[in-house]
Amino acid sequence: MSAISGVIAPRSVEELAEIVRGADDGLRICAAGTWLDAGHPVQAAHELHLDALRGVRAYVPDDLTISVGAATTLRELDAVTAAHGQWCPLLPWGTDNATVGATIATATSGPFAATLGRPRDLVLGLECVDGHGRILRAGGRVVKNVAGFDLTRLMTGAWGTLGVITDVHLRLRARPAVDETWLLHVADDDAVAAWLGAPLAPLACVPFGMGAQGTAWLVRLGGNAEFVAASRRALFALGRCETRDASEWAIVRAEGGPPPRATHWRWNDLSRRLKTAFDPRQVLNRGLLGELA
Ligand SMILES: Cc1cc2nc3c(=O)[nH]c(=O)nc-3n(C[C@H](O)[C@H](O)[C@H](O)COP(=O)(O)OP(=O)(O)OC[C@H]3O[C@@H](n4cnc5c(N)ncnc54)[C@H](O)[C@@H]3O)c2cc1C
Repeated sequence: MSAISGVIAPRSVEELAEIVRGADDGLRICAAGTWLDAGHPVQAAHELHLDALRGVRAYVPDDLTISVGAATTLRELDAVTAAHGQWCPLLPWGTDNATVGATIATATSGPFAATLGRPRDLVLGLECVDGHGRILRAGGRVVKNVAGFDLTRLMTGAWGTLGVITDVHLRLRARPAVDETWLLHVADDDAVAAWLGAPLAPLACVPFGMGAQGTAWLVRLGGNAEFVAASRRALFALGRCETRDASEWAIVRAEGGPPPRATHWRWNDLSRRLKTAFDPRQVLNRGLLGELA
């Protein structure tokens, strides 16, 4: 372990577990640090940096599954899967410098969530270290499961208050054969809403400011050639369309989406019991979701 002025950087999951077991102060879990201030302030004497827990553990393209260390960035994940014509639809608000572990911990989704899935749909399993310093594994690629408990989904969106996520097993998708981005200028937003609920719906559609005719929408169409052609015809019927580069989606994501869940968290009896079961000493991200009574 290296400890420099309150910064702790474990080199392995075993070392991380030992640190958590021995911690008598709060630990602030830090990944890429792009969204550390999103929740409530954390009371922690030490920053826990997870950079060493990075890289592809296993990738089976034929199964459309991949296992990565929590500190793997979304950019790294994208590069590895793109080489096999696949992608991980974890395309959250924010940037691709963010890490996979933090995206699962915060359950951050993005403009593609409605069609491609949310973190809870895409995570097959994970490994984490809870506040007792126990290494827990659940879901896909199970080594030791926690019987009768969906630990994977519990840790997804717990904001690191119940466990430090160390490994994540994810579901992938084939990249669409045809992938187009359009800027739609439309006077009738209700027609867009109706189209979004129809079978030829796009991968994503977000408001993109005001256009010449009313609202402008950034639209992404994806699928096989036949589907995209039919979807494009439906799109063109809505209003004037200009072709755009797919890189526009990075700009949309970086602008952010709805406020993250941690900002409107309230403790209840169940969450108190879970905190007591997984982190009774309040070592992990202490105060992020408000204090325990
Ligand atoms: C410009 C911008 C806009 C954004 N807009 C939104 C938005 O609108 N809505 C939204 O929900 N998110 C938003 N995000 C958040 C962001 O995309 C995700 O939360 C992302 O996954 C953060 O990644 P990170 O590695 O930088 O995490 P960090 O900033 O390092 O950590 C984020 C949180 O996750 C915890 N955490 C990190 N890693 C782990 C782990 N391995 N185990 C347990 N806990 C962990 C941290 O303690 C912290 O509380 C935005 C980010 C940016 C940069």
